[in-house]
Amino acid sequence: MTAGGHARFCPGEEHGEIVFLTGSGLSARTGLGTFRGPDGLWAMEPETEQAMHAELLPGSLPMLWSVWGRMARIALDHGPTPGHRAIARLGAPVITQNIDGLHQAAGSEVVAELHGSALQAVCLGPECRWRATVVPGAGSRAEDHGVPAACPDCGEPTRPDVVLFDENLPADALELAVRLARRADLFVAVGTSGVVFPAAQLAPTAKAHGATTVLIDIDPPPDPALRAIFDHIIAEDAHEVLPDWERTLNQVGRSSFLDPF
Ligand SMILES: [Zn+2]
Repeated sequence: MTAGGHARFCPGEEHGEIVFLTGSGLSARTGLGTFRGPDGLWAMEPETEQAMHAELLPGSLPMLWSVWGRMARIALDHGPTPGHRAIARLGAPVITQNIDGLHQAAGSEVVAELHGSALQAVCLGPECRWRATVVPGAGSRAEDHGVPAACPDCGEPTRPDVVLFDENLPADALELAVRLARRADLFVAVGTSGVVFPAAQLAPTAKAHGATTVLIDIDPPPDPALRAIFDHIIAEDAHEVLPDWERTLNQVGRSSFLDPF
């Protein structure tokens, strides 16, 4: 299981507070793929990437609702991966770039959604506070079926609460993320490259506040910057590593888990 015969890093009792930072790699096996990769959504349907630019609002709303609705449905139908489930069972807070709601579906309670959520609709009206939960493919609202609608409070169009290109990250999620990074004893990046924002800022923040930093990536990029940011780089499948950690930390036998994936 370990490359080169070295013992793979595993958290111990000294890592009281574990904080995860997750990206699209963690949800890839749900069928969502990673957006940017060669098999990603944007490679298959280039026009959908177009719609991710904020300056195209509100004309892009039909495309946005249809794309995010479809993605959210795929994620919900598949459900959380073994990685999501292990993180939830560890009771660890999560900072995520994913908008698919799978950490919450797995049972994680503290989730900082840096890129928003495809399961929330918000109003385009800058002063309007209206928001609603979306139930893709199953709810009674137009948005649930990928169709744009008007805000019931003010009549402006509604949009998915996801961060588009050229938009700022939500301040409350970012604030929570920084707070979590500062208090972490162990900071673990999973399914995200680690060298771009926010990993490139959050992992060093955690490290500067005393955390051990770990990257789990089955194929880590050969970037020397990674070695400066992360104390340990585990080049293995997170869906094997995280359940192993969880079993070790919770000291239970393998036979008691019936993970369907
Ligand atoms: Zn409104």
